[in-house]
Amino acid sequence: MISEFIKGEGVQQALKEIQKGGLSAGFIAGGTEIQRLGTQKKYTKVVSLHSISLDTITSDTQKVVIGAMATFTQMAEDSQVPSYLKEAIKFCGSFTKRNMATIGGNIASLRDDSYLIPTLLAAKARVHIGDISVDGEYSVENIPLREYIEFREHFMGSLILAIELNRPKRIVFSQRFARTVQSPAAITVSFGAGIEEGTLTDVRIFAAIKGTGIIRLKKVEEGIAERQFLTPEDVATVVNSEIAFVDDITGSASYKHYILGSSVAHLYKRCLELTQEEA
Ligand SMILES: Cc1cc2nc3c(=O)[nH]c(=O)nc-3n(C[C@H](O)[C@H](O)[C@H](O)COP(=O)(O)OP(=O)(O)OC[C@H]3O[C@@H](n4cnc5c(N)ncnc54)[C@H](O)[C@@H]3O)c2cc1C
Repeated sequence: MISEFIKGEGVQQALKEIQKGGLSAGFIAGGTEIQRLGTQKKYTKVVSLHSISLDTITSDTQKVVIGAMATFTQMAEDSQVPSYLKEAIKFCGSFTKRNMATIGGNIASLRDDSYLIPTLLAAKARVHIGDISVDGEYSVENIPLREYIEFREHFMGSLILAIELNRPKRIVFSQRFARTVQSPAAITVSFGAGIEEGTLTDVRIFAAIKGTGIIRLKKVEEGIAERQFLTPEDVATVVNSEIAFVDDITGSASYKHYILGSSVAHLYKRCLELTQEEA
């Protein structure tokens, strides 16, 4: 139960408060995960990020930088935010939740049914991370989101300041599979790529799989780069060999297995169609 609520007045003060609180302290942004029934985020001390100006969205011709406290609604209404991210924002069906939930909170929650993480990874997003060392020295790092997720333990207590999307021409398509828009998703999958001279380049495919986690489909990426597949449907054969699926309330392991394979094939096909339009 939360017994200490600290108002963050600035980035460094907020980081110091988290440091003092140790493992039982956490930031509170929209609060939709922390205060959710059944949450795993059981802090006794929280530091609010609401009074710290971290919700601005800026852009130039090369990149869009979204403050960690930008809400889903704010992003959905901002013309600078790429359409592929707006598509993923709609995976959150509740308007109330969209008004509160933040992009930073969504990333840090690292859920296996994450609304945004697969899309952000497929987009090759970067994160700006603020940290404070034990001797009080403040530093900011700009790292790939993939790295933040891979080395999550290392970034415990760090503050996500912003999310950077610096590939304006990247194509990203995503799909989410759930019984209803309000239900937890069995699978959320994203396919990202560039197009150069009519060919897909730099393909990244990520899936949030309920009960399994956030997975990168490397074998499919490699197969596409090596032109192994005769038809888009052939990717499904490789998808299935990579992952340990589990039965749960969202569906059986074999259902998830099937859905992921066919979804990746579908998204791959959509990207291929774009290359043909460009040719
Ligand atoms: C009924 C219900 C269903 C939900 N279903 C889903 C779902 O299907 N998919 C999904 O992805 N989410 C789901 N959520 C959770 C939640 O709504 C989203 O993940 C949301 O984006 C979390 O953002 P927040 O700002 O509310 O985070 P908070 O609840 O404020 O914080 C969540 C975590 O992120 C940390 N945090 C917040 N901001 C930062 C920051 N800037 N830097 C570092 N750490 C930070 C907090 O310390 C905490 O650990 C659901 C919530 C509810 C209530």
